[in-house]
Amino acid sequence: SLTIGIVGLPNVGKSTLFNALTKNDALAANYPFATIEPNVGVVGVPDARLGTLAGIFGSAKLIPATVDFVDIAGIVRGASTGEGLGNKFLANIRESDAICQVIRAFDDPDVTHVDGDIEPSRDIETINTELILADLQTLEKAVPRLEKEAKRNAKDKAAQETLQAARDAQEALDRGTSLSVAEGVDTDRLRELNLLTVKPFIYVFNLDSEELADEKLRTRLQELVAPSEAIFLDAKIEAELAELEEDEAQELLESLGQTESGLAQLARVGFNTLGLQTYLTAGPKEARAWTIKQGATAPEAAGVIHSDFQRGFIKAEVVSFDDLVSGGDMQTARSAGKVRIEGKEYVMSDGDVVEFRFNV
Ligand code: GDP
Repeated sequence: SLTIGIVGLPNVGKSTLFNALTKNDALAANYPFATIEPNVGVVGVPDARLGTLAGIFGSAKLIPATVDFVDIAGIVRGASTGEGLGNKFLANIRESDAICQVIRAFDDPDVTHVDGDIEPSRDIETINTELILADLQTLEKAVPRLEKEAKRNAKDKAAQETLQAARDAQEALDRGTSLSVAEGVDTDRLRELNLLTVKPFIYVFNLDSEELADEKLRTRLQELVAPSEAIFLDAKIEAELAELEEDEAQELLESLGQTESGLAQLARVGFNTLGLQTYLTAGPKEARAWTIKQGATAPEAAGVIHSDFQRGFIKAEVVSFDDLVSGGDMQTARSAGKVRIEGKEYVMSDGDVVEFRFNV
């Protein structure tokens, strides 16, 4: 499955946040693999549609889609040159599909900052510089090889374009621009190099709880990382929320002027950043959101439930969530002609409510 790696300087609240992620274990029963890897936390993606479906189908359980977060060891200045946790860090981050950078914005005299004072923009730059340096090293090694290949295959357009993409990437990185936001670099050509700054970024600002509702501050911090997504939370509060019953948690959130926990926001933004979407199934047992890549076909979607479903796929009975809800139940949606029979070529839409027919 797709994972998001959590990175950040020491003492910014990564462990606190990650513990909150893993304590959020209402899901553990459905996702046993979550407990196998100690550094993986599985978080449910909030989805109000599940409650509605459960109402229509009388489902006993709600099972949301999830996002996997991997706790990657702290990064320090010099990590790209193998200092500190250098190489292990880089290997872990290479395996992640997106990077979640935790940045300290809370002030606490009892918690030392590695660079003295609290300065989010400097911390972001420290980390991004390490990632950029690591990519520059990768490219420096790769370019002579790509040059040779381009020369040897002078008529091979792909080889020329790959070399050009590598040079463009070097230029962007030399200017201090991460490849995920650099313009005019054909990063698709560089996939085999597994570069770090190509991955999408999410920034998590760890604030004091009193600052959470400070719109001015949030705007200023968001501007530091635009066009990437920013999330604002208090890691300590998230840890508390993870221990509370749902109604108590809701109360605490409201007292802070929040409607949704930071973890829930993180899961939602992470899910979108990974280019994922969901389709839904429902019955008396459970209402469930299943994760697919955008553009997945009906058989591929069936394969997420079970590989046999994909192999033996015959057809899918599909109704959009909105059509189902406006009808009120399956029967009504069917009589209204809103329930479609789709075949192997069908490309799934987000929020399709589906029943698959298959041969075993
Ligand atoms: P890590 O090194 O990035 O994993 O940071 P930790 O999660 O271990 O946090 C370092 C210290 O900062 C711990 O003492 C935490 O209790 C504290 N801490 C984490 N988040 C917050 C926060 O939002 N506010 C305050 N005041 N302290 C925090």
